[in-house]
Amino acid sequence: MQTLPLCATVREVGLRDGLQSIGTIVPTEHKCAWVRAAHAAGLREIEVGSFVPARRLPQLADTAEVLREAKTLPGLSVSVLIPNLQGAERALELEADLMILPLSASAAHSLANLRKTPDEVVAEMARIRAARDASGRRTLIEGGVGTAFGCTIQGEVRPAEVLRLLQALLDAGADRVSLADTVGYADPASVSRLFEQALKIAGDRLCGAHFHDTRGLALANVVAALQLGITRFDASLGGIGGCPHAPGASGNAATEDLVFLLESMGVDTGIDIHALLALRAQLVRWIEGEPTHGTLWRAGLPKTFRPARACT
Ligand code: ZN
Repeated sequence: MQTLPLCATVREVGLRDGLQSIGTIVPTEHKCAWVRAAHAAGLREIEVGSFVPARRLPQLADTAEVLREAKTLPGLSVSVLIPNLQGAERALELEADLMILPLSASAAHSLANLRKTPDEVVAEMARIRAARDASGRRTLIEGGVGTAFGCTIQGEVRPAEVLRLLQALLDAGADRVSLADTVGYADPASVSRLFEQALKIAGDRLCGAHFHDTRGLALANVVAALQLGITRFDASLGGIGGCPHAPGASGNAATEDLVFLLESMGVDTGIDIHALLALRAQLVRWIEGEPTHGTLWRAGLPKTFRPARACT
């Protein structure tokens, strides 16, 4: 195996990607407790919600409150999803550290979910960049290219189109870009191929990967990306999420399983896995009755487990 990076960042997205996909509305105080406990466990990047209209996603209506609470925690990069310029304006006003504009490389998925073509989203990126620059804020802008490995509506998504949109987002002013397998179509070989090409375009501005575990390959895909030097991965605690219309669909890679994978392989995450497992147990109580995923919690850590050596 190639030499792996010495450390990696796990970005918790359960409060957004997870909670938006389940019916239970978690009260603000529990979300804030989640953020505080995740930070105490060593997580340093958390996506706290999304600035979409509350009538569309009542689960995330309190994103501003959670963001404000998260901003009080030292060393925490607080990110938020923004569907458009209006969302970006709120993120700037509240001084989010990072805002992520999702773009769906599948035109069919883009029209169905964002009611915009991918190129219209690129144009929105240019407006968001202009707004950020005019605001004087330091909020970073990331373009997150989703359905990068295929799409449930359109089927195939051509890698050439994904790469074209990646370049277009950078040209339009994104500080950085990431690739997402929104629907769990990727496998380690397709991840290697696409990330290799994407790195040629974006270099170190290709900052992360977002894998869903719909078909059980999320962690295998992480390893494939890690081998190419990608060191930032999204995950949701308890693997929550998925799709309310697709029974059995799971969400992102489970945070605790991802941390276990990385630490076991000697890649430091700075995260205390015991604290994370305790938080997972708490989350299960908060969302009682909702399906959770992941495997580490079932059997616990092996006796031989040793966390990776801390990166300096
Ligand atoms: Zn996702």
